[in-house]
This record gives sequence, structure tokens and C-alpha cells, in this order.
Amino acid sequence: MLMPEPDRDSLAKRERIVEALRAIVPGEGVIASQDELRAYECDGLSAYRAVPMAVVLPSTTGQVAEILKLCNEERIKVVPRGAGTSLSGGALPLEDGIVLGLGKFNRILDIDYENRTVTAQPGVTNLGITKAVEDAGFYYAPDPSSQIACSIGGNVAENSGGVHCLKYGLTTNNLLGVEMVLPNGDVLRLGGKHLDSEAYDLLGIMTGSEGLLGVVTEVTVRILPKPETARAVLVGFPSNEQGGDCVASIIAAGIIPGGLEMMDRPAIHAAEAFCQPGYPMDVEALLICELDGPAAEVDHLIETVTSIARQHGATFVKASQSEEERQKFWLGRKAAFPAVGRISPDYYCMDGTIPRAQLSHVLRRMQEMSEEFGLRVANVFHAGDGNLHPLILFDANKPGELERAEEFGSAILRLCVEVGGVLTGEHGVGVEKRDLMPEMFTEDDLNQQQRLKCAFDPAQILNPGKVFPRLHRCAELGRMHIHRGQIPFPDLPRF
Ligand SMILES: Cc1cc2nc3c(=O)[nH]c(=O)nc-3n(C[C@H](O)[C@H](O)[C@H](O)COP(=O)(O)OP(=O)(O)OC[C@H]3O[C@@H](n4cnc5c(N)ncnc54)[C@H](O)[C@@H]3O)c2cc1C
Repeated sequence: MLMPEPDRDSLAKRERIVEALRAIVPGEGVIASQDELRAYECDGLSAYRAVPMAVVLPSTTGQVAEILKLCNEERIKVVPRGAGTSLSGGALPLEDGIVLGLGKFNRILDIDYENRTVTAQPGVTNLGITKAVEDAGFYYAPDPSSQIACSIGGNVAENSGGVHCLKYGLTTNNLLGVEMVLPNGDVLRLGGKHLDSEAYDLLGIMTGSEGLLGVVTEVTVRILPKPETARAVLVGFPSNEQGGDCVASIIAAGIIPGGLEMMDRPAIHAAEAFCQPGYPMDVEALLICELDGPAAEVDHLIETVTSIARQHGATFVKASQSEEERQKFWLGRKAAFPAVGRISPDYYCMDGTIPRAQLSHVLRRMQEMSEEFGLRVANVFHAGDGNLHPLILFDANKPGELERAEEFGSAILRLCVEVGGVLTGEHGVGVEKRDLMPEMFTEDDLNQQQRLKCAFDPAQILNPGKVFPRLHRCAELGRMHIHRGQIPFPDLPRF
């Protein structure tokens, strides 16, 4: 993975830029010492690291606007950063750029039960929103597993999802408005507390824009009343294929579970050893299916799901009988990533989405690929959405294993596209999937997406080197010809 060559002019301006940033954010708001900068050198994709020229931690929208205006005029690159939990390298710093950290934007600004909205600063954690309204019986539905740490601004930038997104939608379906700052320092408001946008759906464009179009400084989301009842069923199968087919049949029966997750044997065993959620040890695949709503409806749906599961050869079925037991069933799933971290020195978490009906085929192919690449894989994923999270297990200390894991990951994502799916489900493109974009998009598609980037950020100071495999100058768009996904002169870095 190549990043742009650091720009000497920008590096030469470092001292002056740091001074100018200190004038905008006085006190401890600018970090410039090499030791302290190390804390920001990577995000959740820790295989890639770079120490930025400086980190600036503003606390008002006015400061963000001044910082961006300065950087735009000086052509200094800016990487916005929330909590740094991105798994695709979206918040990876650039050596010739600054990191703009939103950690000090950590206040809930407004709770409006009549309109069922919460307005928060972007550094508030995802879970912090639910915590603010749970006593009144409400919650914020999108629930990434990282919700204790990740920021709502980062969720907007990545269009994050989670277990409950099958029924309640991703961030984009729960976001009502943002305040954002453009690279030239202009402050915009998109949406508000109302449904539907007033003109072009710019809010839709901002959601999932991975820090390339603007910096979000305020977020308004909708909150939902907590369902009257929620119960989870554990269903075990002798094969991944049977589990995959059962998922497709549950949805085909018209049931939209509150959550429908799947784990394969390595993940089940790792989770059980880690936190003892009571998973069966003699199955190859485990579904966790949550049904929510009025109690009578939930009971009926549990019976229906159980019967569908039996038709697909389920050998283990257990429905939660109490809230405590439901939480216990989820405990293993939520802790699955750290649990897998205990059975392998390193793992690489992939994220791709496929049509649900392809689940069993893709799981079978992945198993074959695991043998071809000589690396184990554990699967823990949002089965109901067809959003896969294969965890490729490797040891970075063994020469060549990281590269092999990356190749295996790319092969999985190519397979996702081949069966009619997409390169990412919820973790974003970042640097991780950047070079695979031509697998999915034609040159015209990519150029059109870059024209949009140019409309927001003509000087391309925001997060360059991410998402687009090559960044044309806005004036040159469309001149490069890419044939069958083959970039001409692939050894040249193009940004
Ligand atoms: C253990 C673990 C589990 C995870 N589980 C899930 C999961 O279930 N579902 C899921 O979707 N993701 C998951 N993630 C990925 C990650 O938590 C999400 O992508 C999250 O939304 C990132 O938020 P953040 O605040 O950490 O953003 P960062 O990592 O700081 O940044 C992510 C991207 O957003 C941009 N950005 C951040 N803040 C702003 C802002 N205010 N304005 C403009 N751009 C901004 C950055 O430039 C970057 O491109 C997981 C990560 C980990 C480590």
C-alpha cells in the first residue's frame, strides 16, 4: 500500500504552521512533540503508521473553520479524527499533514423527546447517546461493537452499522442533520430535526464520506423507544452452509429480526473460552437471532424461527428466558474480536457485503481459500445484512504472513464483488480497500465520485490518499485511461 510521497514544501512550513495553529487554539490544543505525536500515528488498522506534522485539538466550530481556512490557503493536508477506531485506516495520519482531532467536542447539546432527537457534538461516543436517553426509555439504534469508544462524528463519516442495523438501519437511516465545516472554512447546516432533506440529499453524501468532504462539528440523530420485549435464540448447525441457508429463509419468511448474527466454529470456541456465554461446542455454525416487539409477537416469532431452523437441520436451539440470559448470549458475540485476539498473535478484520442468498457459497469458498493461503480464518458477522467480517489469523513476526493475510483479504473482497456484493459493509474504504476500488467501479464511476470531492474540496486537502486509488488534480479529471481495472504504470504513486 503506497501513500503519497510527503510534500517537501509542506514539511518546510511545519514550524510556521504549528505557530499559526497555536494562535487559533491556545493552551494545550496543539501537539507537536515527536513523543506525544506517536499516540496518533495509527488508527484501528495498526499495520500502517505515520507520524503527522502536528495534531490540533479544537473545541469550537469557529476554531475548526479557522484551522481549515489556514490549511486550505497553505495547502496543508488535514486528516480529521474522532476516536481513531477506524478499521480501514481512514484516520491514518499523513507525514506532511496535520491531524484534526475532535475529541474535545464531547457534549450532548440537546435532547428533544417530542421530536425524538438528540443533538451532540461529534466527539460524543456512540454509546454516550444511548446513555443520555436510556432512563427515559429511549436508545440510539446503530450499535457498532466499538460503541463504547467510537465517536458519533466517526460513525457519520464511516456510515457505521452494528447488530441492530438489519431492522433499524445504518447511521444514514438514523441521521437527521449535521453542522459541518468545508475546507475553505465555510460552515454549513444540512438537515435538522425534520425528516427528509430540503434539496439535494447532501446529508446522504456526507454520510460515509470518510473525512474527504468536510469536518462534522455537530450531529442530530433520531432516537427510538426501547422495544417492549427482546429475546434472543441461539441456533447451532452442523455446517456453515446450513446456517447461511437458514438466514436466507428467515428473511424470505418476512421476518426482520432485531439482530441476526452468525459465528463459525473457530469464533464460537474463542468466544466461549473468553467469556463463557454458554455456546454449544459441537456445532460448525451458530446463529444468534434477536426478536423484539410486543411479548406475544416475540413469542410467536421465536416459534417460527425455531421451526425454520429445524427445517435446515439445526442441532441446537435455545431461546433466552430472561433479560440476563439474552445479554449473556450477546456477550460472546460482542467480545468475539478480542476473543479471537487470544488465539492468534495478529488478525486482520475484513469487511465486505454480499447478497444474503450467496452466504453459504461464499463461506465455502472462504474455507477453500483459507487452505490455499495457508492461513486460518474465523467468521463473526452480521449475517442478516450479508455483511461479512472474516478475521484472518496470522503472525506478523513470521516473514511474509502479513502480506499473505492482505492478499487473502483482497481475494475475499474480490469474491464479494464477484457474487454481486460490495467492497465494504460498514468499515469504509480508507487505505485498506483503496486499491481495490477499480474492481468495483469503472473509470467513469471513479471520476464522477472525484468530481464530487472536487466540488467540496477543490484543493484536495482533506484526507488525500484515502478511498481513491489515484487522486487527479481537479482540473485534470478523467484523463487517465484504466482498462479492465489495470492501472497504467502501476508502480508510480498517483495522488
Ligand atoms: C473492536 C472494533 C469493533 C468495531 N466494530 C464495528 C462495528 O460493529 N460496526 C462498524 O460500523 N464499525 C466498527 N468498527 C469500526 C469503527 O469503530 C467505526 O468505523 C467508527 O465509526 C469509527 O469512529 P471513530 O470515532 O473512531 O472515527 P476515526 O477512526 O477517528 O475516523 C474514521 C473516519 O472518519 C473520519 N472522521 C472522524 N470524525 C470525523 C468528523 N467529525 N468529521 C469528518 N470526518 C470525521 C476520519 O477522517 C476517518 O476517515 C469497529 C472497530 C473496532 C476497533
